[in-house]
Amino acid sequence: MDTRVKYSTPGLSAEARDKLRPGIAPLTGVGATVKQLTALAVMLVPFAGFLLALQRVIAGTFSTTDVVLFAVMYFLHMGGITMGFHRYLAHKTFNTSRFFEGLLLICGSMAAQGPIMFWVTTHRRHHTYSDQPGDPHSPNLYGKSLGAKIKGLWYAHMPWMLAKDISGWNFFAPDILANRKLFFYHRSYALWIVLGLVIPAVIGGLVGGSLSAAFNGFLFGGLARIFLANQAAWCVGSVSHMIGSKAFKTDDKSANNWTVAILTMGEGLQNNHHAFPGSYRHGIKWWEPDLSGWILTALGALGVVWDLRFPDEKTIRKLSLDRS
Ligand SMILES: [Zn+2]
Ligand SMILES: [Zn+2]
Repeated sequence: MDTRVKYSTPGLSAEARDKLRPGIAPLTGVGATVKQLTALAVMLVPFAGFLLALQRVIAGTFSTTDVVLFAVMYFLHMGGITMGFHRYLAHKTFNTSRFFEGLLLICGSMAAQGPIMFWVTTHRRHHTYSDQPGDPHSPNLYGKSLGAKIKGLWYAHMPWMLAKDISGWNFFAPDILANRKLFFYHRSYALWIVLGLVIPAVIGGLVGGSLSAAFNGFLFGGLARIFLANQAAWCVGSVSHMIGSKAFKTDDKSANNWTVAILTMGEGLQNNHHAFPGSYRHGIKWWEPDLSGWILTALGALGVVWDLRFPDEKTIRKLSLDRS
């Protein structure tokens, strides 16, 4: 059996998949091993840190500083992913200065969800083949039974990162590949992850005045934050493609899930997003929980970001499933 394709395209041989799904190449040898070890590290190391933080919460040996560090770093982590990696880089829904671009991409890199070339190519591939063979993380490719749905949800949540394939850089992200200033953030990715761990450790240590306070800062603002924020973020690809409401006509199973949207600063409104991927807001109605959209609107008024793209009334009505 050819196991090279078993994760991303169930039932298809590598050859068949390559023919059907341009932009995806099988990964073998050292490349596949490096990808899988990196993915395992991203899944397991923050989990270990989370368990240690949990132990401190249960024992009551944590401080207000740890809670604040967790909250602030969670906000920067999620904001960097949603506003920086996703709405700015992958979809180009607004424009901004080099300074603010750098701030967004550094914060996004701290999330340890992969360097920008991995993130953007994976994400554009997700839109290209949404809930079809070739989608890197669809929960809907395994069948209709409850067991198949649970298997799909689990696969789309984390094991998809172990798939022995690669999304083509030239195919999915030639714009970033050709932009040396943007590519800098790809090459310096590891540095920003380390910074995202060191900053809360240093602040925790300075405020608490001890090494154990610094270690708590590292755990709460660093590893536990990465673990919990990424669990929420990965629900966007798993839960929000299966559970939730549909407001717009799309060719996939994307759904608006408010719980995921609240935890991910708006990303859980997947149905809105797949209907209007070029919109800087995922909340089409102003009251839909889209913190990133609200922040970008405010930043637009302040002149920090500009050229914010949003669909007009006619476009919205055309795809709307609400015929009232
Ligand atoms: Zn999606
Ligand atoms: Zn998207």
